[in-house]
Amino acid sequence: MCYGKNMVFKQNGSVAGKNTDRQKGRAWIELNMDNLAHNVKEFRNILPKGCALMPAVKANAYGHGVRQIGQALAEIGIQDFCVASAGEAVELRNAGITGQILILGYTPPCQFEDLVHYHLTQTVVDLPYGRLLNDFGRPVLVHVGIDTGMRRLGERSEDMENIFKIWELGNLDIRGVYSHLSVPDGISREEIAFTRKQIAEFETVVSALHRNGIGGFQTHLQGSYGVLNYPELNRFDYARVGIALYGVLSLPGDRIGAEVTLKPVLSLKARVACVKQLHAKEPAGYGLSFTAKREMKIAVVSIGYADGIPRELSNKGYALIHGYRADIIGRVCMDQLLLDVSGIRDVSAGDEAVFIGKSGEQTISACEVAECAGTISNEILSRLGNRVERVLSV
Ligand SMILES: *Cc1c(COP(=O)(O)O)cnc(C)c1O
Repeated sequence: MCYGKNMVFKQNGSVAGKNTDRQKGRAWIELNMDNLAHNVKEFRNILPKGCALMPAVKANAYGHGVRQIGQALAEIGIQDFCVASAGEAVELRNAGITGQILILGYTPPCQFEDLVHYHLTQTVVDLPYGRLLNDFGRPVLVHVGIDTGMRRLGERSEDMENIFKIWELGNLDIRGVYSHLSVPDGISREEIAFTRKQIAEFETVVSALHRNGIGGFQTHLQGSYGVLNYPELNRFDYARVGIALYGVLSLPGDRIGAEVTLKPVLSLKARVACVKQLHAKEPAGYGLSFTAKREMKIAVVSIGYADGIPRELSNKGYALIHGYRADIIGRVCMDQLLLDVSGIRDVSAGDEAVFIGKSGEQTISACEVAECAGTISNEILSRLGNRVERVLSV
């Protein structure tokens, strides 16, 4: 068991009320849009007027539901967004977003038509890609990616010749220039030095462009941890904030420099399908990976790895029922899993089990789950399944 070590998992007191809300299916996500608005406000407080939020809503808004999150953000005045793919950008446009939608990733030529049709903004991933896009023969909105050390997308910052050539491509309507940081969450001297070097490289490129009479583009460099740890970055035009806007850090122990209080937007819940006895020495689940040491009461819950509960949490993770901790026993299946509810009174079919969020006095955060599963909350959230309904919490 790797999280919730101090949690109560035997019940002594009274039982919380049963949840029988019919709008929620076998497993669902509850979205707290008040918390989203709160987080936006927190970021607006630390960003200067000239630096706008460009929320990262890729991967279905980090699993939250891109339609719901996009519309909620638009309602509180967010205009521009970034995503990873053309498909995500089209979905966001169809959800009614009218501002700039920047595609941070690669779009293949077979989807160039969508860029024009939906007024999407494409990243120029390097000079050859810029030429390909230019050869499409229609004006396309773009931001130019600069590789300052991540060694992922972007023309390398020292290759100024190539960077200038991108401005010679007549069909590219260049609206922005940006880069991406590799370790803005790092606290070691080397990590900080690396980040400062990336910032300096980016500024060198921007000033070289300006010196050569090239302007009229917007600049951006920082995601969540850049904003929170490097306030000097906030002089750029945009902050591409993802994970922290959802009120979550990547890992529980992460340092952040800025004084903000972030509130989680998402809760993940599922229903108990049935409750049964497990006798001493009996195994349960696939692979016989769990055997009861004593008489137990177990709950079969309607959520599995296809819904985004990592199989890594087999015999390791836990959920909350009626405010008490119930350990996952046996292997997490594709659609279901088993919880030990021996110590919890009156658990019955239809009851709600909380995998991320609050139940009674107890809370499980996305980053605790992530740490237990050997990953970061970004991965846990972005892999939450499509069949999990997204509902607004009231
Ligand atoms: C995902 C992504 C972001 C957002 O990152 P967070 O750490 O979630 O804030 C920003 N920029 C780029 C290029 C990204 O791929």
